[in-house]
Order: sequence, then structure tokens, then C-alpha cells
Amino acid sequence: MITSDWSDYLNIGTSSANIDISKHRSFKIQCILDILEGCKYHCPGCFVKKKHNYHDSALDNVLSLNIDHMDDLVLGPTDFFGADNILQILEDPRMIELCRSVEGIQHNTSIDGDVTDDFVKDVISYLESNEVYTNLNYDVQIAVDVYKTLT
Ligand code: SF4
Repeated sequence: MITSDWSDYLNIGTSSANIDISKHRSFKIQCILDILEGCKYHCPGCFVKKKHNYHDSALDNVLSLNIDHMDDLVLGPTDFFGADNILQILEDPRMIELCRSVEGIQHNTSIDGDVTDDFVKDVISYLESNEVYTNLNYDVQIAVDVYKTLT
């Protein structure tokens, strides 16, 4: 679900999220792109596959599906800001083309001290400098270390 759907769902509004499945007349397509490599965070108990996720043909394969309009792209499996190849992916013209026909990007991120503010700023500045990315919704799941937050 994109951000507006969540808001409507929580307010028991009229979005498709609140309509019985048997009454749906269309489907939303969400594409999960597990192409992020590496993670600079060190969350205890992490079981996410961090290596050998990216393949150069992955974005070509999605584009070749020729799906008119997708709801969201889910970008993972590692952390959006902690991944080693996040800028390479965002700058890839194929990713930009893909993002022209989606509503938004969903991704996870953790709040930790291992990624410098400068790197996070570089990623955000790049997103903000690109017309395609500025038009997207961002549905972000943020993992917070409760122990660190409360102490
Ligand atoms: S941010 Fe995600 S991928 Fe990275 S260490 Fe934490 S749980 Fe693992």
C-alpha cells in the first residue's frame, strides 16, 4: 500500500484497502526488487541476504515485462541508506525509466550510527535533484533500536 492508502485505511476511508476482496475490480501490482548489495549497519540477529543480490539484467528483466502501471517498487532486501550500491541503482537510467510508471518506492531503513549523515544527505540530495524521484511517494519502514532510543 502506498502512503495515501495507509492513511485512508487507518481512517476507515474509501480506498481499495477497505473494500472486500470479492468486490475488487482491479489489482495493484507491486514489484519487489531485491537488488541492493551490502549493508553498513550491524543489527543484532540480522538474517537478510546481503551479497550477490544485484544482477545487471535485473532492471532489464522488469522493464521487459512492459507493465503499464505498477503501484510500488519495493527496494531491498538490505537497508536503503546502508546499501553499498544505492546511488548506483538510483542513478541507473533503467531505474529512472521504471520509476516513471510507478506510484512510489517502499524501502526499509534503520536508525544507526554507522552511515554518515553525509552519505544519507547525498542520497536524499540526489533524489531531490531528479524530477522522476521527486514525484514519487515514499513508504518507509524505519527500524529503531528501542534500547538505544530509550537509554
Ligand atoms: S539494516 Fe537490515 S540488512 Fe542491514 S544489518 Fe540491519 S537488518 Fe540487516
